[in-house]
Amino acid sequence: MAKSLLIVGGGSAGWITATYLDYVLNHLKKHDVHISLVESATIGRIGVGEATVPSLRHTLAGMGISERDFMRSSDATFKCAIRFENWLHQGHAYYHPFDRQREGIIELTGRDWCISDRSLPFAHTVTPLAGMCDERRSPRSYNTRDYGSPLAYAYHMDARKFADYLADVAVGRGVDRIIADVAATQVDENGNITSIRTHDGRDLAADLFIDCTGFASLLLGQAIHVGFEDFSQYLLCDSALTMQVPYDVYYPGYINPFTRATALSSGWAWDIPQASRRGLGYVYSSAYLSDAEAEHEFRQLEGRHCDGLPVKKISFKPGMRQRFWAGNCVAIGLSGGFVEPLESTGIYLIETGVRILADLFPQEGSMQLMRKRYNELIKRRYLEILEFVNLHYALSRRSDTDFWIDVQKPQHITESLRQKLELWRVKPVTPSDIDDHQHCFAFPNWEFVVYGMDH
Ligand code: FAD
Repeated sequence: MAKSLLIVGGGSAGWITATYLDYVLNHLKKHDVHISLVESATIGRIGVGEATVPSLRHTLAGMGISERDFMRSSDATFKCAIRFENWLHQGHAYYHPFDRQREGIIELTGRDWCISDRSLPFAHTVTPLAGMCDERRSPRSYNTRDYGSPLAYAYHMDARKFADYLADVAVGRGVDRIIADVAATQVDENGNITSIRTHDGRDLAADLFIDCTGFASLLLGQAIHVGFEDFSQYLLCDSALTMQVPYDVYYPGYINPFTRATALSSGWAWDIPQASRRGLGYVYSSAYLSDAEAEHEFRQLEGRHCDGLPVKKISFKPGMRQRFWAGNCVAIGLSGGFVEPLESTGIYLIETGVRILADLFPQEGSMQLMRKRYNELIKRRYLEILEFVNLHYALSRRSDTDFWIDVQKPQHITESLRQKLELWRVKPVTPSDIDDHQHCFAFPNWEFVVYGMDH
């Protein structure tokens, strides 16, 4: 068994990995794995105001973390759904909620809705969450016990504060924290990392290295040279503008229990309410819109109260590493890949990565087998997310800009999605349409978007 683990990078990926693996391997399974995390004091983390999916509740509870402590420290609010606005056409809106009530094994609500007059949106017929979102209600009352609600929910939060909070928890439980910048990575002739050299001259060795260095992908990408699989044929956006609007600058009078995703001229804008501010962003394609045009459109959407607030630009390439575990190095978080945050899957991919790694943690001589299985599973998750995010663009009927005309063209729709959409021209969405291995998005998630977009 790997006896020592060095996590490089202290964003939310690094600290979720440290806290989770320490809890599961050392506390629950009673192994004795020495876990250290090295992070820079000067290179910043991503923290734009993140929306999550319900798996985070299980991950937090599974790490023995109090929901109240987490929410207070991470500026978190409840999230019950995503509200998509203007995706089908201007003025149209629908919810993708986290809950879907079912009648039984034979589920006919989708079919019944398809043959109805459709005056009630599909989501409102299968979950109380849609109506609760209309009314801006919380999924649970303040006084119920931690994680206690019969309805599924997730959170909006500040990923930077979340990382700080988890760092305190993990260090308190015995994880070593090293503050240093990584200067070089030593790799042997078999492609295994032997040590990390820091700027202050230390050499840090371990049996297993976890690359959590964000987009830089210092270990897996830069040192081991694992290639990148580009998704930009299907996801045309490559840029984001972000802005934070503190409530003492402008408070709209409520906190939405949902993420707003509003389609704009060449992409879409998020509105993520946290406890002390709103995180806003515009994800767009630089091939269709200049940065200046994007900023103008973004500021217009928010209105006068954002005058003077700074906007930050982030460029990204949608896609994933060809392998996530190579030699003795595993990439978790942005170092492994990125899909635009339309369905809030960044933190989910981190949770999935650590959960599977804890399951496949290498024993004596088993590294190769664990690695193979890990790579298969994580690749499937990325492809599943690519297809589901692609769905939102493929079903649009907007024709007001070149961007919206182009995203609907067949060459920008994945083959597996094209096949599903053909099927759903002749039958309702049912569980057998979705591959068994799909984990993040099951058949109700597909129903909400397919019916929400009137396909
Ligand atoms: P980072 O936060 O970038 O952390 C990298 C770490 O590596 C930092 O600690 C840095 O100091 C360290 N590091 C880098 N280089 C060195 C070095 N040389 N030496 C030492 N340390 C180093 N996810 C969601 O779930 N929901 C969302 O709504 C969402 N929205 C997003 C919007 C945008 C525009 C982007 C870009 C991402 C979004 N994400 C979202 C993704 C989410 O923010 C990340 O997955 C998450 O914060 C984890 O980031 P990370 O830890 O991988 O990287």
